[in-house]
Amino acid sequence: MPDMEYLKRATEINPEVIANRRYLHQHPELAFDLDNTVRFVKEKLTEMGYAPADCGDHGVVALAGGRKPGKCILIRADMDALPMKEESGLEFSSLTDSAAHTCGHDTHTAMLLGAAKLLKEMEDEIPGTVKLMFQPAEEMGTGAENMLKAGVLENPHVDASFGIHIFAAVPAGVLVYANGPMLSSCDVFEITVKGKGGHGSMPNDTVDPIMVGAHILTALESINSREIAPDSFGVLTVGCFQSGSKFNIIPDTAFMTGTIRTFDSEVREFMKKRLTELAEGTARAYRAEATVSFPTQICAVITDKDVARIVGESVAAAVGAPRVIGNFKPIAGSEDFGYITSEVPSTFFGLGGCPTDYPAYPQHSPNIRFNEDAFPVGVAAYVSGAIGWLQSQAKEA
Ligand SMILES: [Zn+2]
Ligand SMILES: [Zn+2]
Repeated sequence: MPDMEYLKRATEINPEVIANRRYLHQHPELAFDLDNTVRFVKEKLTEMGYAPADCGDHGVVALAGGRKPGKCILIRADMDALPMKEESGLEFSSLTDSAAHTCGHDTHTAMLLGAAKLLKEMEDEIPGTVKLMFQPAEEMGTGAENMLKAGVLENPHVDASFGIHIFAAVPAGVLVYANGPMLSSCDVFEITVKGKGGHGSMPNDTVDPIMVGAHILTALESINSREIAPDSFGVLTVGCFQSGSKFNIIPDTAFMTGTIRTFDSEVREFMKKRLTELAEGTARAYRAEATVSFPTQICAVITDKDVARIVGESVAAAVGAPRVIGNFKPIAGSEDFGYITSEVPSTFFGLGGCPTDYPAYPQHSPNIRFNEDAFPVGVAAYVSGAIGWLQSQAKEA
């Protein structure tokens, strides 16, 4: 297909992409509990002539091409929603109050289904294989890892990959990507301080975990201000500090949870190590005990400079160079696609989805809306990026 044909064809099928997106939007599901979503995706893929396969817990994989020899590139969409009530006022709003697609993963799934349709139409021409990855539980930070463990990168072996995320704050149809770090790692930490409860009037008989927790909180602030080099990036936020129930009771325990975000694996390991030492050591100094755990650990999304350049140039040729911005400044948000980028040379796009007649709400806002006119750019990016990279490898071979 000539370069500009991708966008033309993606625009022609946009009514179908929109219909699929609106169905998914009305029927959001959470985490790994994606029975209906997976049924829908597999049904659509089967109708197109694919043989979709389960991968891990509610993940789906389908293959396009493979008729001509060549390498394999993986393109990915996530499928899960968030546990919240939608307030967008859209006519196709979520039919439940307990889940909503406020991160736009419904649009990713619909765009990847659109890409699947285009790839099927040109299947004989694909110089290698395109692996379509429909992923669960991105918002938990565990879905990509689950599919990784289930072998998503094998049979056939994946040589490169990329994903797309829509952003309501970026102008519609603009694509951004980075060379190197794009999105930060995210390590969720939990600190439990065990003291000794008692009466508020006799603190000398107790070990007050609230006081100890407050000292830990203050100590953690010194990691960023005193221990990380000024040109290194690291964010440490305590987002929750809970303890106690009544004015005259000193409780037994205090609990804190938060996140550490970085772009560099050395800084990441250093911050986790120092957080643990400061929490445990401070607690000990005050006769309490702190236990630290990291229940969720998401790698940074780091793009490979060659894959980013080749895929970026192919996409720019297909959707028009002015709308593709290649020197995107890394941001401190996280995406569990980082698990894939840490295993395979990869790239990642942010797709602008800002509405024209409605305010741009931040991701996860109950009011958020995405601009459906951006979808053809996303579909064309998936297809042209995958084909362009496969062609570049065929030339090299
Ligand atoms: Zn999200
Ligand atoms: Zn998301």
